[in-house]
This record gives sequence, structure tokens and C-alpha cells, in this order.
Amino acid sequence: MKTQSGTTLIRNGTLIDGTGALPVPDAAVLVTDGIIAYAGASSGLPEPNPGINTIDAGGGTILPGLVEAHIHLTYFNVTELQDLDIKYPVEYVTLQSAVNAKTALECGYTAARSGGCLHNIDVWMKKAIEEDMIPGPRLSASGREICGAGGLMDWNPDYRKIGMEGIVFIVNGPEEARRAVRKLVKDGIEWVKTYPTGDAASPDINDHHTLCMTYEEMHAVVATAHNHGLKVTGHCRATEGIRNALRAGYDAIEHGTFMDDECLELLLKRNVPMCPGLGFEKFSVDRGKEFGLSQQVIDGHQETLEAGAESCRRVLAAGGTMGLGGDYGFGWTPHGTYAQELTFFVDYVGFSVLDTIRCATLGGAKMMGREKEIGSVEQGKLGDLLVVRGEVMNDISLLEDRRNFLAVMQGGVIKAGHLAA
Ligand SMILES: [Zn+2]
Repeated sequence: MKTQSGTTLIRNGTLIDGTGALPVPDAAVLVTDGIIAYAGASSGLPEPNPGINTIDAGGGTILPGLVEAHIHLTYFNVTELQDLDIKYPVEYVTLQSAVNAKTALECGYTAARSGGCLHNIDVWMKKAIEEDMIPGPRLSASGREICGAGGLMDWNPDYRKIGMEGIVFIVNGPEEARRAVRKLVKDGIEWVKTYPTGDAASPDINDHHTLCMTYEEMHAVVATAHNHGLKVTGHCRATEGIRNALRAGYDAIEHGTFMDDECLELLLKRNVPMCPGLGFEKFSVDRGKEFGLSQQVIDGHQETLEAGAESCRRVLAAGGTMGLGGDYGFGWTPHGTYAQELTFFVDYVGFSVLDTIRCATLGGAKMMGREKEIGSVEQGKLGDLLVVRGEVMNDISLLEDRRNFLAVMQGGVIKAGHLAA
């Protein structure tokens, strides 16, 4: 991805740097050749050359670009899981993904980590973004997911004789798990996404207390993936699924819903990052009816929501690493509404604004393994920045409306916001 050449000064805004440090009023950020050269109080700014590009933040807020820690670029605002796999061919899903990537960037998400994709679209989306062919967040690519036979993602009845190859490898036993990972190795992905557990979305046979893979299968996935330098994560709701994942050596946990003391200890021991993706539960409860979710499903999401919120509070209090985002791309969580996750974490889960922003920026960057380059506004990092109208410290929901963005920058280049025009 090309970076800006020359120097840009952003001034007259409150800096929230993403590290959790207190905001700096009347701050200045200097970006030179795409890299942050100064970030802090404007009084400490070295005298900049006259005539450099200047962005007046207008008394608003300067913060790091947001990181979506569990994005599904290939999900096209579906209302039924079944639609994901067979509704459209790969050609059309790819086009939709490109549109979703552009939307995410316009919404202030300058980086994103995939939580799984259809076909092998992420890898190629990432290449297209890196080569500036299309606009989008810096991407950590996942691929087709892995789930045990009869598990959450194995939803097509056998009599239909429809495979699931578009979205998931259905495996029976460690040997098939290894085979699936080896395919993904050839696909060129970074994250192997698995399904250790079920979900409230499937109340009859694969609910949120159900296991969808065995420990042996999960261990085989990790051993094979790590051998080739890939990372492994999994959809983990049930306690035993979280424990199995952590024992098997997973590199991240998605959801981490029913986290007991032992799981929390295992999580902290290796500092395994977690993406709760919890807003989805709240929005499923609030909006499920209008999209035809059954009461049983909604009740399951309610239980998941409450347990998940408690897990998040415990992980935060214990000093664990969390990224925010997750499962936007359903009818009731459409692309473009990602930042409602942040408002939800403040209003419902009870995180402070600073903790929420830290998770949504530096936390996500850590999950991506790119915290040295992105995720906070600090000297030496890439100039991935947001300049926002208004006081985000007072109202985090300002981030939900892209019309509040003066600038969305990647490597110092203004990619979206009013100043992009
Ligand atoms: Zn997901």
C-alpha cells in the first residue's frame, strides 16, 4: 500500500492515542512519508516547515484508525446462515466483498482481521488492497473454515447432496482436519478459523453449549497450521470448547462466551487475545424478531449476551488482550454499522471510552500481530489515523456516522472523509 510522501500536520484536536493513555487536549500529529513523526501536545511540536499540508481538526478528535478484529468481508447481509454458502457464485461474492472493504475503510476501519470467508476471497482481497487496486482495510486473511461433521456449519441435509466447500471444510477426525489445513496452507491464508462449539443460532442440535470438534481434531489443526506458520482461532462459546482451544494451542479465541476460572487462567498464561464479537448477540436480541429469528434463538442469544458481557469484563479486569468487532454482514448487523460495537461496549458492557477505543485499535492490531506498525498514534508507526468532528470522549457514538469523519488516513494518505473529496 502506497504511503504519502511529504509531511502532513494535524492540529487543533484532542488526541486519543489508542494505548489507553489519557486524552491530550490541543494535540498535534505530524506524519512524514507515511510515518508518524510526532504525536502529543502541540506545545511540544518541533517547528514544522512552513507550507506543509495542514489539517485543522476543528477542535474535534484525532485517533488511530479502527481495527475490525473479526470481519467477514464475504458475508452479504444475510438473514439466514444457509444463504451464505449457496445463494451466489464466487464471482458475485467477490464483487460484494470489494464493496464491503471500501465501506469498512470509509467507516474508519483502516485495518481488519478476517473471521473467516467464503472460497479463498480474503487472500485475493488483501492483495488487491495492498496493491491499491481497491480501497479497504489492511487485512489479515482467513480462508474457508473448519467444522466437525454434524456441527454448526454442516447444515445442508445429506439428501440435498450439496457440499459445503464454499465456506467450510467438514471434517471427521484428525486426519481430515490435517488435510483441510493443508489445503488452506496452499491457499495462502494467515488465520485458520475453526468451530470448536455451536451457537445460539442453531438451538436444536448445535446450541452454544455444544461441541462441534473434538480436542484431537483441534490439536491436529494447530500442529499442522503452526508447522506452516499459520495461526489458529475458533468460534468458542461452550466452556469446554474454550478450554480445548486454549489447551490445543490456539492463537486467538473468538467470543470466549462461557469462560470459567480455568479458561481465564489459560487465556492469560499465554496472553491469547480474544475477540468477543458480542454486539451481534445484542442486535440479534433487539432486531431478531423483524428478521424472523425464533424465540428460542433469541433466548439463546440473550443467554450468550449476558455470559459474554461478564467474560469481557473479567478479561479486561485481568489485563487480557481484546479486539473489538465481529459478525457484521448479517441482515441485522449490516456492513457499515461496525462502530455500533464500540457504543455497545460502553453503554451495555460497561467499558470506559478509553478502554473501548484501546481494544478497538491497539487490541485489534495485537490480534493481527501488527502492533509494532499500527493500532496507536505513536511515533514510528504508520499514519493510519482518523480525524473526527466532535468530542469522541464525550460521545463514542460519533464514530458510528461516517459523516463525522474529516479524514480517514492510511499511511498518511487521506482515503475517505470530507477531506478526501
Ligand atoms: Zn464470525
